[in-house]
Amino acid sequence: MLSYRHNFHAGNHADILKHSTLMLLLETMVQKDKPFTVLDTHGGGGIYNLDNPGLLHTGEAEKGILTFLDTVQYAELPSTLENYVRLCSHYRQKNLYPGSPEIIRSMMREKDKLFVAELHSTEIEVLRDNLSTQPLLCYQEGQLLQNKDFTPSVTIHYGNGFEMLKARVPPQIKRGIILMDPSYETDSDYREPVTTLTSAYKKWPSAIIVLWYPLLVHRKETLHTMKAKLIENILSLNTTHSDKPILTASLLVHGPEQDTPRLYGSEMLIVNAPYMLEEKLKITLPYVQTILSPLKGNWHIKKYL
Ligand code: SAM
Repeated sequence: MLSYRHNFHAGNHADILKHSTLMLLLETMVQKDKPFTVLDTHGGGGIYNLDNPGLLHTGEAEKGILTFLDTVQYAELPSTLENYVRLCSHYRQKNLYPGSPEIIRSMMREKDKLFVAELHSTEIEVLRDNLSTQPLLCYQEGQLLQNKDFTPSVTIHYGNGFEMLKARVPPQIKRGIILMDPSYETDSDYREPVTTLTSAYKKWPSAIIVLWYPLLVHRKETLHTMKAKLIENILSLNTTHSDKPILTASLLVHGPEQDTPRLYGSEMLIVNAPYMLEEKLKITLPYVQTILSPLKGNWHIKKYL
């Protein structure tokens, strides 16, 4: 029985890391004319009300995206964050925050494809409902603008995202991204990313694979094992794409001491990181950290070749 609902957490520091990085990856996709595929294995609700009771209760958006949008100096905003901030500001005008499927839809062209899975019986209805209308902004002529005259091609899968991944890889369009963002509620959420992403990589070695995970004091060992095993597996299989590194990018909002909240930050593991992503993250992460947690925060980027 799943109890995690992302509407308690939408727009928090972890979403800012995850979604601003996702946006950078989508930007590299639309730089070329060739179509792309995204497999989003854990879609959530797609769009979140910033004043939903869960989010007001946790205060996570308030400390996250709302503080961020209220603090950024638009004249000094790094170009690496421009599209993300533009999108979030637009949704915020309607008191909304865009989740991963919505961010992906916003950057899709007519030829691109999104496959998104969600397992929660209530959340899947929210997702279907939210994705039944056009995104507020769409990528056209090199920027995010209003009004698009086509509906992005989205297939919604009600079921297990790990299974969807196994069934959909390799996709017909072999340029693309796998986004895996489990809720880490069960022990299998720490095992399945390693097994499913390793076999996905075997079948689709050019995919940009993105795994998000929380930095939790009480799960430190398990997370370390998951990450180390996945990196080891990919590196041992990496024969054809050795020029594209594996990166990990983390954003910490507290120190990992025992007396801090258990979630002290989060991390993204990116396989086949595109050209210049590391440099872009080196601009984005310190900027975000300085706004969200100037005194206690930190950020790290590591490269594995
Ligand atoms: N990716 C979303 C975003 O960035 O906006 C947030 C996803 S949330 C962290 C994780 C979601 O995965 C929850 O909505 C949960 O119901 C769903 N979920 C949990 N286990 C799942 C599974 N095995 N397959 C698909 N969805 C799952």
